[in-house]
Amino acid sequence: MLYTNQDYDTLRAMKNDNLHVAIIGSGIIGISCAAVLRRRGVTVTLIERDEPCAGTSSGNAGAIATSAIMPLASPGIMLSAPKWLLDPLGPLSIRPRYIPKIMPWLYKFWRASNAKRVRDSARSLASIMKITGPAVEQLFAEAGIAHCLHHKGHIHAYQSTAAFEHSRSDWELRTEFGIPVSYLNKAELHDMEPALGDSFTNGVLQPDWMSVTDPHQTGLDIANHAIKQGVTLVSGTVINVAEENAKPTVQLADGRKIKADKVVLAAGAWSHRLAALWGENIPLETERGYTVTMKNPGIELNRSVSITAHAFLIAPLSCGMRIAGTVEFGGLEAAPNYARANAMLKIAKQCLPGLNSSDDPQWMGFRPSTPDTLPVIGRSPIRPNIIHAYGHGHLGLTLCAPTAELVADIALDQTPSIDIHPFRADRF
Ligand SMILES: Cc1cc2nc3c(=O)[nH]c(=O)nc-3n(C[C@H](O)[C@H](O)[C@H](O)COP(=O)(O)OP(=O)(O)OC[C@H]3O[C@@H](n4cnc5c(N)ncnc54)[C@H](O)[C@@H]3O)c2cc1C
Repeated sequence: MLYTNQDYDTLRAMKNDNLHVAIIGSGIIGISCAAVLRRRGVTVTLIERDEPCAGTSSGNAGAIATSAIMPLASPGIMLSAPKWLLDPLGPLSIRPRYIPKIMPWLYKFWRASNAKRVRDSARSLASIMKITGPAVEQLFAEAGIAHCLHHKGHIHAYQSTAAFEHSRSDWELRTEFGIPVSYLNKAELHDMEPALGDSFTNGVLQPDWMSVTDPHQTGLDIANHAIKQGVTLVSGTVINVAEENAKPTVQLADGRKIKADKVVLAAGAWSHRLAALWGENIPLETERGYTVTMKNPGIELNRSVSITAHAFLIAPLSCGMRIAGTVEFGGLEAAPNYARANAMLKIAKQCLPGLNSSDDPQWMGFRPSTPDTLPVIGRSPIRPNIIHAYGHGHLGLTLCAPTAELVADIALDQTPSIDIHPFRADRF
């Protein structure tokens, strides 16, 4: 349920201040949950072992990708994957030593890739995307950063008409689920994005897609807003959530305890490790993704563009032109392989003649990913006073505000504005 600013005072008066919610993790999901719960008058403690928005949420591509409803597991990926996997620097790779570890997740991924499951996941993502635009706009307005939200849409660019035609059914499914798209011929595409090389033949414009100017600053601004509204930020590493007198008690590594009425688990790609402590087996993997951010790119883009054949995206951000993409399965401990970022950059230079890059910073982040691409949002079936909020994969920034609204609905025992059954933790 979304509230207008006018309702804000009424909500504060509803005395939800009696309810104390502790949130584990201050990536963009935890931060947004904190801001929205506080808006609804809840007493909120946000617990983070690092700085707010310091990890995966800091370096992403800044897309509020409201048209991204197609799950990663799909018949198309299953066909492309073997070819991609042959190239260790290609769009998809698995570290050889990680293969045995990831097999159970890949099996679930494969099972989620049949046409019916793809359609079901797309429908569920479309339903949460419907509340995404208004929720994001409201959260950004409250945090005073509405001006950091751009509404210029996004283009998927194709280097052959055959490749575009091959993906047409995916675009038609988006249209069927109410996502507006418009097809661009070569002249229209180059008119909108003159920096693209001549090899690009077709494009698909998604006008509702929004972008933030800088994802790190966005997270910090929303965190600061939440803190100004009364959220308490606690620095510490959570090692467990115990149950004391029928209430959850968050235990920190240094021995401190935080008693709450409810706990939101928003620890990104590490969430399943905590959930396992109270007996939940969540198939959460990390899709490691890379970026290069060019300070002086030498070219301009009017909006972000996906280079479809190579599965990466180029986004004009206030901190530079950012290339972002690739999926690497290698777990949470292995060191980054920045050769993957260099490989993306090399292709980007071919796609955008004139693109300039030297010694630009590279980065790697841990997307928290489920086999069916849907996030995990809902009460724990084992510990109902713990609320799951993670597993957003490629869409954590996109879905931060709607997730926060749904989490607040759950925490306050209100009826969520959409069906959250598809996001439940025990669906696997
Ligand atoms: C290259 C790349 C590009 C991307 N581009 C986009 C994009 O354009 N649009 C989009 O929507 N998404 C994008 N994403 C995905 C998005 O960045 C993630 O989905 C999102 O950041 C996940 O947010 P989170 O809050 O769940 O996790 P995180 O940002 O990882 O935050 C989790 C937090 O929990 C903390 N934590 C974990 N365990 C504990 C513990 N035990 N105690 C205390 N604290 C703990 C961590 O320190 C961390 O700060 C991209 C990702 C990558 C890698």
